[in-house]
Amino acid sequence: MQTHSLGFPRIGLNRELKWATERFWQGGISEDLLLNTAKGLMTGNWRLQKEAGLDLVPAGDFSLYDHMLDMTATLGAIPNRFGFSGDKVDLDIYFRMARGSEGAKGTPAMEMTKWFDTNYHYIVPEFWPGQSFRLSYTWFFDQVREARRSGINAKAVIPGPFTYIHLGKSVDNDFDRWEHLDKIISVYAELLELLGKDCQWIQMDEPILVLDLDRHILDRMIPAYGRLAKAAGDARIMIATYFGEIVDPETVCMLPVSAIHADMVRAPAQLETILEHIPDHMILSLGTIDGRNIWRADLDRAVAQVDRARRAIGEERVMVAPSCSLLHVPIDLSGEKMLDPEIRAWMAFAGEKCLEVRAVADMASGKSCDLLVESRKILEGRRTCKHIINSEVGNRLASLTGDMLRRNSPFPERKKCQNRQLNLPLFPTTTIGSFPQTREIRSVRKRYVRGEVDHAIYTRNIKEYIEFAVEMQEKAGLDVLVHGEPERNDMVEYFAGHLDGFCLTENGWVQSYGTRCVKPPVIYGDVSRPAPITVEWSIYAQSLTRKPMKGMLTGPVTILRWSFVRDDQPERDTCRQIALAIRDEVCDLEKAGMKIIQIDEPALREGLPLRQKDWAGYLNWAVDAFKLATGGVRDHTQIHTHMCYSEFNEIIGAIAEMDADVISMEASRSRMALLEAFGDYQYPNDIGPGIIDIHSPRVPSVAELTELLRLALEVIPPERLWVNPDCGLKTRSWPEVEAMLQNMTAAAMRMRKRMEKQIK
Ligand code: GLN
Ligand code: ZN
Repeated sequence: MQTHSLGFPRIGLNRELKWATERFWQGGISEDLLLNTAKGLMTGNWRLQKEAGLDLVPAGDFSLYDHMLDMTATLGAIPNRFGFSGDKVDLDIYFRMARGSEGAKGTPAMEMTKWFDTNYHYIVPEFWPGQSFRLSYTWFFDQVREARRSGINAKAVIPGPFTYIHLGKSVDNDFDRWEHLDKIISVYAELLELLGKDCQWIQMDEPILVLDLDRHILDRMIPAYGRLAKAAGDARIMIATYFGEIVDPETVCMLPVSAIHADMVRAPAQLETILEHIPDHMILSLGTIDGRNIWRADLDRAVAQVDRARRAIGEERVMVAPSCSLLHVPIDLSGEKMLDPEIRAWMAFAGEKCLEVRAVADMASGKSCDLLVESRKILEGRRTCKHIINSEVGNRLASLTGDMLRRNSPFPERKKCQNRQLNLPLFPTTTIGSFPQTREIRSVRKRYVRGEVDHAIYTRNIKEYIEFAVEMQEKAGLDVLVHGEPERNDMVEYFAGHLDGFCLTENGWVQSYGTRCVKPPVIYGDVSRPAPITVEWSIYAQSLTRKPMKGMLTGPVTILRWSFVRDDQPERDTCRQIALAIRDEVCDLEKAGMKIIQIDEPALREGLPLRQKDWAGYLNWAVDAFKLATGGVRDHTQIHTHMCYSEFNEIIGAIAEMDADVISMEASRSRMALLEAFGDYQYPNDIGPGIIDIHSPRVPSVAELTELLRLALEVIPPERLWVNPDCGLKTRSWPEVEAMLQNMTAAAMRMRKRMEKQIK
């Protein structure tokens, strides 16, 4: 039985690609050296997968930045602003599309957005009327050729044309980007003709087949793939779907291609429907090993699926693979030396997953397999492990009552209590939480973790930072202060490190975008909070000022979304456990005298399921988790939340149900397009639409900021408008922050004066 994988992590076990690329950008290494590093990593990936026993190894999945950008370059779909000559895309243009460029001839980068419901970001293709397409970048066949040279049985991997177009955007709203389909298919045909000479299989990723699609898109797939299959010559085409159930398996089974790949981890039930529709000539690739999570697989379950397919359509027509590209998991467990050995044994990263794929195929064709025996034993150990279960957490969850999800009084009454206690001016000014993460503060944290500085020195350094931050905010004239988050490297990892039921990996890096990687914490057991986490820092900060200080926490949904989660209970249940732990922290902050507490939920929107039919269910438990985390405080205590990085217009109703007293949201980059939603939907509580883009070092003038506030006042009543930046300021420098905040408070002041005049 044939095995394969859909894609492999590119970044390198020690993030070699990141370091090489960043040095290349700084002019520290040559293009040749960068490309050599890339080649070394690719070759290593191929060897590893081949040695693990995969029959077909992907080539073309490797990228210097992003696979969608690779397709943009290949098609020559380069937006005019980059001054493309129309010949060959070189690395200069390639990276400028990804990152933009500054200076006189500066150009903004292409937009970047999340790849389905993952934490990976792709570069969004741009389409415009009159655009032409031409084969302009040889990256895909360079890889395939290189693989062949290294003696690898390569399967070419490229993004499919329908996914490429669907995930792109038309620069002009009236323009229908599907008008370009035929032109794009022609270039794809040329590409396939070339690829087809060097390999037997071409995998075309069409994950949009798991989304709610317009009929007209599906209808055009059959003739288009007919053309492509012809162009590929002797090479066979596999359509890869993942992240969910194929919405219209009947149509997909009519595509004139040789194989389809379906995700059997996220959507096991689709096996039966696919088997019903699959035509005799078609091969079915079963994604039975989870490519989205780090747990060792239940091999018996996977074998049962494969066996079912084998009996229905015959062994020669079944392939075994991970559910999706392994891009979304770390590379190899060999980098983990400090993990608790018991928990480490429960895990499988990309390399280990390839071994599991091989094992499933072998067992399904009747061979015996050592891995199965080992896995059964380990999984049994995990199921019965005492470290997973915390009966206290179970008892608390069992005795939850509805009023734990509610504040005591409705918002208007709470607001009166809070006004009395806080005595804030009209248009209160505040920030989102973090201040510059300077080299000094990072180094102190690192040395403390390594044991090179003791607790007293560490504490003194953090406190000095807080003192500096408070003084700066007082000088700038802010109304509600923050401590600046100097103790945190990351808003999720910090809390994960202080909660039971979580563990942190040493080297479990996953690409987030380009050279940026994240190291998601792992939730392996019931979550609880052994001791207060942030209280000491918050009360110290509050002791330095008479202005109200905000306690600052990350919300349960965001902690869940940015971690690897347990696969042995529903996410909803895990989220509720995290919510209880955060609730404990919220209550302790209140007890310690904090009058305002902010709970950030920037990941609420990205957790939204891919299919609309599943939205309500998710929003229900996500909103409940936030309410459980915040519902334990008195009316007088003001709860803030914060959201960014996404479009919130679609879920504004759910956001209102969270019933935070104040919400701050990213808005400045879209010139407050967010406010449209607030115009249509009467958001009931206080709002601070961000008026400063924190991604840019540019300091907006007082006049500009005042104008943004004026726009906001068109839809938000004055007594409910807050003034703040888009997000935390951790990536900015202190002088930038000072200048930004001074202008921001000056704009608020100006607005207050205007209002006074109007009232007189
Ligand atoms: N409080 C966090 C900060 O300011 C929020 C970060 C975020 O929204 N991503 O850094
Ligand atoms: Zn933010």
